[in-house]
Amino acid sequence: MTQIIDGKAFATKLRAEIAAEVATLSYKPGLAVVLVGEDPASKVYVANKAKQTVEVGMNSFEHRLPADTTQEQLLALVSQLNADPAVHGILVQLPLPKHLDTESVIATISPEKDVDGLTVVNAGRLASGAEGLIPCTPLGCLLLLQDNISDMTGLHAVVIGRSNLVGKPVAQLLLQQNCTVTMAHSKTRDLPGLCRTADILVAAVGRPEMVKGDWVKPGAVVIDVGINRVPASEGKTKLVGDVAYAEAAPIAGKITPVPGGVGPMTIACLLRNTLTAAKRLEAAR
Ligand code: NDP
Repeated sequence: MTQIIDGKAFATKLRAEIAAEVATLSYKPGLAVVLVGEDPASKVYVANKAKQTVEVGMNSFEHRLPADTTQEQLLALVSQLNADPAVHGILVQLPLPKHLDTESVIATISPEKDVDGLTVVNAGRLASGAEGLIPCTPLGCLLLLQDNISDMTGLHAVVIGRSNLVGKPVAQLLLQQNCTVTMAHSKTRDLPGLCRTADILVAAVGRPEMVKGDWVKPGAVVIDVGINRVPASEGKTKLVGDVAYAEAAPIAGKITPVPGGVGPMTIACLLRNTLTAAKRLEAAR
């Protein structure tokens, strides 16, 4: 019987653990979220993050800036947050409006407060095995895998997707778990054949239901990071992953659904990173 990996339940448990730990602290961890412009999806994400931040007992500082904010204004705000002792985590909601230079904005975030794990410093720390802050969605994938596989040593992990946000950090984390990691991407030859050799298959592609049932090795653990909105019946839409779930689920040993798999782990891991950052910053004071 295939086991469905319940990311929603795991995230709820993780948030409860974070709240319990926050309650023991003599200070309140603070997360600052910066939103530039009026992107409707980003507004929903930011509202969810703020709500869950407060629910675990942390301070949420929301900075909503108009779409015509200049690069200088945004960098000045990030610098101000870097210097603010009440702020332990800084997240700049992406994507930014096109006239802003995302790379230099991220580079301005103090690596110690970079709870999205997107700075070059934190990417380097992850690659070199040093202590840093790990990007939230990859951390969520790792926690789900650790909860479902007692020892990943020697397992073959295939990660489809090589973005800085998901694919690369996931591969680094699995390498640290002693997996033999293969990174696949749009130029990979015979992707179905490669996937069939995977004990752990992580799909982070952004192509609805690309990974078919016969790409999955029987008994494999499948982590579907994809979130794709596609047309459904009666003019409605629905969310599907990068894996053709109905085909893959009977073949996989364990699999994450979409929605309810990796998705809910992302904000929970953001809160975990904020707690981690707060403990390190306060210990260094
Ligand atoms: P990107 O678009 O940045 O990267 C996609 C990757 O998939 C690229 O490396 C690309 O290869 C590869 N790819 C594209 N087409 C193919 C193909 N036909 N065969 C093999 N590889 C292919 O996406 P992200 O990494 O940002 O996100 C991936 C998915 O995860 C998306 O669905 C996104 O919505 C979702 N996501 C979910 C999150 C969550 O909270 N659960 C958070 C972040 C993302 P190449 O490099 O060669 O172009």
